[in-house]
Amino acid sequence: MYYPLLCCDKGKLADNTRKINTLCKEHNIMPIAVVKGTSAWHEVCECIVNSGITKLADSRMINLKAIQDINCEKILLRIPMKSEIQDVIKYTDISLNSELEMIKLLNQEAINQNKIHKIILMIDVGDLREGIWPTDVDSYANEIKKLSHIHLLGIGTNITCYGAVLPTDQNLGLLSQCADNLRSFHGMSLEIVSGGNSSSFNFMLQGNLPPTINNLRLGEVLLLGRETENCAYIPGLNSDVFTLQAQIIEIKEKPSIPIGRTGVDGFGNVPKFKDKGKRIRAIVAIGRQDVKPNTISPLDENIEILGASSDHMIIDITDSKTPYKLGDCIHFNVTYEALLDLCTSKYVFKKIMNTEE
Ligand SMILES: *Cc1c(COP(=O)(O)O)cnc(C)c1O
Repeated sequence: MYYPLLCCDKGKLADNTRKINTLCKEHNIMPIAVVKGTSAWHEVCECIVNSGITKLADSRMINLKAIQDINCEKILLRIPMKSEIQDVIKYTDISLNSELEMIKLLNQEAINQNKIHKIILMIDVGDLREGIWPTDVDSYANEIKKLSHIHLLGIGTNITCYGAVLPTDQNLGLLSQCADNLRSFHGMSLEIVSGGNSSSFNFMLQGNLPPTINNLRLGEVLLLGRETENCAYIPGLNSDVFTLQAQIIEIKEKPSIPIGRTGVDGFGNVPKFKDKGKRIRAIVAIGRQDVKPNTISPLDENIEILGASSDHMIIDITDSKTPYKLGDCIHFNVTYEALLDLCTSKYVFKKIMNTEE
């Protein structure tokens, strides 16, 4: 086995997928699985599709290209770059959009490739990331109607990403009004009204989503069984689908305070130390090049992460009940940010395990 190792528990992922599917159905929501947190890890994508969510979304064209062989609908989450228009038409079924110029370019390319491309028009209801203003919906609708190879599949919004704006009756209400308007005044069927990401999931569970909303794009709740913005664990979902293992390469008793005159560390920070006397410290072979130390937490609650440089993470194992020795692995739970970093790092090995199911 190679380390550091990121393990994905297939049984737990399948379980999360099925439960989320069921919960969404109960609230008349059609879920899209967002797999960018794993860089569209192939076996993860297959597991999700086999467990019942058959729409996969990612922000990166490269990732969507790599899952072409998986039989599912593919959605480009990040509004497209001009340089990737050919690929968007060729490899995706749906893209999210907010620029008329881009939508026209997509139409032109769809004509060239003899395809109908579906789009979800993004509307900014206050979070100030992507999206057109609600007041511009009419003019966009009028222009999009003229395009022969673009189908306006729906509208959507993104919240709690940039501005940390939480879902409310007001902002999601605004999205609903836009949908009603497009249906009644523009005669559009609008199959999808997408009310956000994982941060809208609890809002859904509480029965608070406006009835017009029929879709959510879910990454974090699916992969990690929780949702950062509200620090909410979703009851019944597995929050330990992914586990990181890193190997111990040194164990020594050392003082808690460095010896000598101190300046800034390798990353420009002035570290602070608390004198706890002599402690048993271990070095594990993982570092900031792989993951930020404050985004992972040891499963052994009696271990404390002291810090990390590029390739070394220092932990305090004095209080642990486990007699760790050289070559043992320390197991960590990961945040969404850590999952992103670990899946992107070529230095981290990945393994999918087949436990239950
Ligand atoms: C990343 C992303 C999501 C998924 O967000 P989660 O919080 O992980 O559910 C949904 N929509 C868009 C546009 C995204 O970029």
